Formats: sequence, C-alpha cells, structure tokens
Amino acid sequence: MQSQETTESNAKKTKTSNRQAKTRQENWSIDSFQVPEAEGKLRFHDLDLPDEVMQGIQAQEYQYCSPIQALTLPESLQGMDITGKAQTGSGKTAAFLISIITDLLDYPIEGPRRLGTPRALIVAPTRELVMQIASDADQLTRFTDCRVRQLVGGMDFEVQQKQLQKGHVDILVATPGRLLDFCRRGYVNLREVEVLVLDEADRMLSMGFIPDVRAIIRQTPKKQDRQTLLFSATFSEQILRLAEQWTFEPIHIEIEPENLAAESVEQRFLSVSSFDKYRVLLNSLRNGDVERAIVFANRRHVTRELAERLQRDGVSSALLSGEVAQQKRVKTLERFRTGETPVMVATDVAGRGIHVDGVSHVFNYDLPEELEDYVHRIGRTGRAGASGLAISFASEDDAFLLPDLETLLGKPITCEPVPQELLEG
Ligand code: AMP
Repeated sequence: MQSQETTESNAKKTKTSNRQAKTRQENWSIDSFQVPEAEGKLRFHDLDLPDEVMQGIQAQEYQYCSPIQALTLPESLQGMDITGKAQTGSGKTAAFLISIITDLLDYPIEGPRRLGTPRALIVAPTRELVMQIASDADQLTRFTDCRVRQLVGGMDFEVQQKQLQKGHVDILVATPGRLLDFCRRGYVNLREVEVLVLDEADRMLSMGFIPDVRAIIRQTPKKQDRQTLLFSATFSEQILRLAEQWTFEPIHIEIEPENLAAESVEQRFLSVSSFDKYRVLLNSLRNGDVERAIVFANRRHVTRELAERLQRDGVSSALLSGEVAQQKRVKTLERFRTGETPVMVATDVAGRGIHVDGVSHVFNYDLPEELEDYVHRIGRTGRAGASGLAISFASEDDAFLLPDLETLLGKPITCEPVPQELLEG
C-alpha cells in the first residue's frame, strides 16, 4: 500500500510469505468454512484474505460480501483511497475493518513499537459508534495479534490512558475531541498512521467536528503517504470538498439508500393528530408483533417523557439520549441487545449508536427535521438481510415535511388513516 515506503517508522516491515504460519488456532482450516459460489455475489474467499481474518469472518457468520464490501474491498486491499457513500447497516464497518486487518497482517512490523502510535486510526462522530466499531474490530481481530483500543469522551480519561500504556496499539477508534486531548497531552502520536478512516463524515460536519478532524489529520502522514477511507451517508458540496482535501486520487463508491430501505424495510405512514400520537404508539407497542422496537423523537424532553410514560403504562422501555450518562447508555444498550428492555426511545444522535440486529419495528414518533435522518432511523431495522417495519406518524405539526421526504426517497408516500383499534383505550 502507498504508505509502506514512506512512513517514518524505523521498524522494518516485511510481507509475510506464509500466512498459514500465523494462524493461531492450529487445527483451523479454510475447509471448515465452505461457502458455495453464487451468481452476482462476491465471497470473502475470493479476496485472498489471511486465514486469521477468514476465521474472524466465519465466527461472525458472514458468508458473502455485502454490496459495499464487494465494491470497497478489492480496491482498498490494493491500498487505494476510497470515498464511500453508504449508510449504517450496509456493512461498511466490516468493509474497512477487514481491509485494515489484512493490511496489518500482511505488513507486520518487526521490532519494538512505541506506545500510543496506532497503525490504523478510525475517527467517528459519536461515542456509541466508536464503541460499536471497536467491538466489531475486537470480533474480527480475535484470531490475530492486532490490538484494538478506543478513546471516547464522557468516559474516564485515566482508564483509557492506562489501557494505552499497557502496550502498543494497532487500531485506534476514537471520537475527535477525546483523541485530540490525548494527542495534546502526548499520549497518542499519529505520525505512524498508515490507514485513516473517517466514518460518517456528514455527521462530523453537522456536529461541528470539522476543525477537530482537520487538526487530527494534520498530525497524520501526508495524504500521499497514508491510505484514507472516507464514508458518508450523503455527499454535499461541503463533504465533497473535504473529501478532495483529505484523500489522494480516491475511488468513489456509492450504495444508494434505496438498496437498504426498499428491500428490507416496509415503510408505513400514519396520519395521526398530535393528540392521539401517544395512544397510537402505546397500542402499537402492545401489539404482539413488536419484538424489539426503537421509537425516535426529535427532542430530548419528548423522548424522556415518552420513556417514562410507556414505563408507567407497563411497556418496559428505556431512554437513549444525550442527557443519559455514558455509562448508563452502555448498560441500557446492552439490555436492549439482550431483549431485557424491548423498547428503546431515542433521539437521532443517540440512536445512531444502536447497532442491534433483530429490531422488528422503528417508530418515528416525530418525522425527523433533518430528512437524511429518516434513512438512518429506518436503517435500525431490516439489518443484515432481516425484514423490518418502519411506522412514521405524520401529524399536523410535521406532515409538511412529507413532500421533501418523497423527493429524498424517490417514491410517493401514502399516508394511511389510523386503524380504529389503535385509537382505543
Ligand atoms: P454496519 O453497516 O457496519 O453497521 O453493519 C450492519 C450489520 O451487518 C452489522 O450487524 C454487521 O455485523 C452485519 N454485516 C456486516 N457485513 C456482513 C456480511 N457480509 N454478511 C452478513 N452480515 C454482515
């Protein structure tokens, strides 16, 4: 890859000729991971990945590459820069992680490593997203020696610092502010970053993180000397300009949201007066079909009131919003993941961290003010090929957003009246 010749590392890198030798589970063989060829699908087997990575993929029970992986991996494995338009739920995390891990294994560093100098850096806008990426990285690296660390705001600085002091780090996943903090205090040095991933660039822009991201990128090697993978759900003029500054002769890859939304998520719109909204939500949640649901609302106080009211009405539900302390959010997410709390009420920012399979329903209690968020919200269900139902309430307060949403989705929206049984009680 591009950075190999130019990185300032004194350590010597050699491509291992015999990957088999590094396989840690001696008795594992690719024969135990058979996936038949299928028309129009790319298998991970076709990508010449190290055995340890294939083992990780097998453990995750992935068989074929998702569309973003099939488009990204052949290019990123060659060291190309990528700008990718892809939503959460498309499998983009595994796409960049598999590429990174393969690269780290193919070009191991011999000799001692300095503490706090990651070889791959992944920057993402929210704590939840960072934690999710780090957890996926832990899974995919579990048959390798690669070491993954995360730095997120809102969690104990010292604990994260101690983790970093324990030994070298290969893959660092971080939110921008906390990462800069670590850089300024000299605990992290980005001069040896070989692969830089900027995830959800549009979110970083809307959350005001671009100055921080710029400061981070300035500390990494020049763009010609590193590989940069930039992902964003949308490519506005501004994002395009940033992508141009930060990447070197990138390959642009697009996965349209329709692929995600149209195929696996059924979308329904109910015309509900704001007076009836709560009753309709409660009755819908009590309906036996709802296994696990996320309810989105635009304002924190609305999410709080909803979670409390549902709880009082006997629907076990939890709140995920910016006003919930980070430690508690992690526990809340875990209870949602295990099914202990089947309903989660969330704001958009917090909701982006929810990567849980088996979400049967997404309710839009309010239509999102940023329409792009609609796609993110409904992408919480119908993940990884499962089907899901997204029900959006359109009331007198927000129905005016529907024409623009139709344009975004590229198809007409039909608003149904509320079925009588959902208004009762
Ligand atoms: P992401 O877009 O990275 O949030 O991934 C969405 C979900 O798809 C995660 O639960 C992944 O574990 C899952 N996933 C990623 N790649 C694959 C694949 N090739 N086959 C099946 N599931 C996948």
